[in-house]
Amino acid sequence: MGQRDGIAAARLALIAHLRATEGAQVALLQRLLRAPSANPPGDTRPAAAVLAAFLDVEGCPARIHAARPELPNLVAAFDGRGEGEGGHLVFNGHIDVFPPNDADGWSGELREGRLYGRGAADMKTGTAASSIAFAALHRFRDVLPGRVTLTAVSDEQTGGALGTKWLFETMGEAIRGDVLLNGEPSGINNIRFMEKGTLRFTVTVRTPGGHGGYPHLSPSAIKIAAAIVQALDALHGFAPPLPDAVARALDDPATIAAHDAGLGQGASRWVRQIAFNAGVIRGGRKVNQLPDLCELECDIRYPWGLTRAAVEANVARILGGFPEASWVVTETHSYPPSLAPPDDPMVRILADVVEHDLGAPRPVPCSSLGGSDSRYWRYAGVPAYLYGPSPVSMGRADEHVTVAEFLHIAKAHALAAFDWLALRGGGNQRL
Ligand SMILES: [Zn+2]
Repeated sequence: MGQRDGIAAARLALIAHLRATEGAQVALLQRLLRAPSANPPGDTRPAAAVLAAFLDVEGCPARIHAARPELPNLVAAFDGRGEGEGGHLVFNGHIDVFPPNDADGWSGELREGRLYGRGAADMKTGTAASSIAFAALHRFRDVLPGRVTLTAVSDEQTGGALGTKWLFETMGEAIRGDVLLNGEPSGINNIRFMEKGTLRFTVTVRTPGGHGGYPHLSPSAIKIAAAIVQALDALHGFAPPLPDAVARALDDPATIAAHDAGLGQGASRWVRQIAFNAGVIRGGRKVNQLPDLCELECDIRYPWGLTRAAVEANVARILGGFPEASWVVTETHSYPPSLAPPDDPMVRILADVVEHDLGAPRPVPCSSLGGSDSRYWRYAGVPAYLYGPSPVSMGRADEHVTVAEFLHIAKAHALAAFDWLALRGGGNQRL
């Protein structure tokens, strides 16, 4: 049997394996949903143990790389045929989740075709799907060329310094790879290829203050803060020019429709515009007192086409008009936008798998409005894409995923990774 026949047979066997193990896949996600991993406070060991046990049983154990013992990051890898010659595909997901609304958050209940629990959307479904894909590909490592790495991290929800960022700092090349797949919530009708940047900062306004009836003796810190909010709002809605390929992708009517349908009407505009938000304001002690202190916590989401330096310069220029104000950037939550090519082979491969193998509508390239760990790969020059479940219920009391969607994502990750590795290894991708 030739190499090409071997790959074609392995692909059919992979599809059969994924079909035959659907019950076990659902059971894995259910175990993962039942294992607490809220961050904060940040102790993900029970959930990490579920994934580690699954990988052990599959014969592809993970190593633990932990900056802190209660936040274990799992890294597993294997080489395919030819000792890894070909491409290196990396899966990435996070184990930590938002705190649950109540004790039911860890129910993992299966009801009417849906699995409920904190993280069902963000992102235990995606992390389980990637782990299932990784273990399934491991079974065909004698045939499949290239290398596959799985990274399941425990610190994403609170800034991520001890998760993916830490792995890049301590492992570097080992997890960089040539392409990244991540199952963060996106909706199965789209493939996320870009994310906005964030600049988070606190503005402090100080004045002498005094009695409210004596405005000639001091300005009001609250009134100045209100004027600052109005002035910074001039940045809201600004849209820089985009590279042609990106503008073309975002202007495609199917992409506009997918943004508006998946992220809310109007989202297609906001993926390319600055969004300024003054999320918290604190000031004043008593109604008849002139406030001497007012603090504003601000968050700017800026699109590809702008640098952090340019955004900071604009904030500095605006705040320069208010001598009573000073400002400090929150470094842990400030990062530049990231972009992967919307026309990369992986986008086509993933879309082909969804359309032809899974019989679902062809997903289109879209932008995210929030951030994900995929940006670390994009910063390193590696094309990185999100393909995961519907984001609609994430963080809610009834957070859930449909069983059908979960199984769809596991298959999409496994088959897209298989086809990408086969293509990079010189095999025929559409078999
Ligand atoms: Zn997430």
